[in-house]
Amino acid sequence: MREFKPLEIIVERGSEESPAFKNLWRAFPEVPFVLVEPERVAGFLFSSFDDPLGEGKKRLVLMRHKGEFLKKCPGSDGQVCCNYFVINFASNCPMECSYCYLQDYLASNPALKLFSNVGDLIDEAQALLSRHRKSFFRIGTGEITDSLALDPYVGTSADLIPFFAEQPNALLELKTKSDRVEGLLALDPKGRVVVSWSMNPPGVIEQEEHLTASFEERLAAARRCQETGYKLGFHFDPIVEYPGWEEDYRTMVETIFAVIDHRRVAWVSMGVLRNTPALKRIMRQRFPSSRLICGEQILCPDGKMRYFQPLRVSMYRKMLGWIRAASPTVFVYLCMESKDVWNQVFGFFPSCEKELGRQMVLE
Ligand code: SF4
Repeated sequence: MREFKPLEIIVERGSEESPAFKNLWRAFPEVPFVLVEPERVAGFLFSSFDDPLGEGKKRLVLMRHKGEFLKKCPGSDGQVCCNYFVINFASNCPMECSYCYLQDYLASNPALKLFSNVGDLIDEAQALLSRHRKSFFRIGTGEITDSLALDPYVGTSADLIPFFAEQPNALLELKTKSDRVEGLLALDPKGRVVVSWSMNPPGVIEQEEHLTASFEERLAAARRCQETGYKLGFHFDPIVEYPGWEEDYRTMVETIFAVIDHRRVAWVSMGVLRNTPALKRIMRQRFPSSRLICGEQILCPDGKMRYFQPLRVSMYRKMLGWIRAASPTVFVYLCMESKDVWNQVFGFFPSCEKELGRQMVLE
């Protein structure tokens, strides 16, 4: 995948003492660093360019995060939720997927931000996990950023992994479309860290997931992580329907499970392409040649557009058949789907979100 190099790095005064600053300083000796007072940082967050999100991705803003780091995943109205928590150590992502929901979600706040107060993040996680020792938490960092794309330059995983490795009641998921795992390989996750990849067939990656690692690069990185002792996850999301999709997705699943030890895979998720009317408008402007703009989709009660339900069910059943043929026991779940769809695909639906979260951890 292509090396990331920002045009400049904006540093909020106070963040220049952080380990993240020191790592960035070492990683980008040729990039200008601009130190700004806290009250002036807001001027760098709301860009007035024609393509604010695209421009936002070219600069890095290193600043303190003032709110809470840990949040319950918002899920989607009326869909089965998997009881997941998210930690936002950054906002926005240096890669460019045509369908990325951040294009709409971060439209008014598009800067690529990194939060310098990782110590506060760890204190907050420690307080939550100690307060609820009888509960088990799945916590991920890839909700509004990619978990690993910036890791070689910032080194956040070197703080997070040793902390989560010692937690008896949590699993940390690092979710990525990159292959930047070099910072993970010398660390011992002690069975508490899942590194997961969003996967699509090579043709979809090439056409829609710009600046990401190729299919082969992701798979090679997954294998290195597995050999080092990490659990793995795979997210087949978004699954895209087009003429010949079956052959491409079946080959993708077979290739992954031919290389990976399926007994060390913590979970696999499936989700078809989703977007919103607003996101589609942005995609038309930013990625006019994307083939995801055309095609029929239905507006669902949660405000998201998806393929017609019978088509979704048929796609999930085919995917599940290929996954089961390669790995009869791996835990598979649906992302942002209704109980009705769960029932038609699996013959059951989780009675509550805690049940689903518990099943994943026990598998
Ligand atoms: S890798 Fe994820 S966060 Fe980054 S652009 Fe693609 S979909 Fe968005």
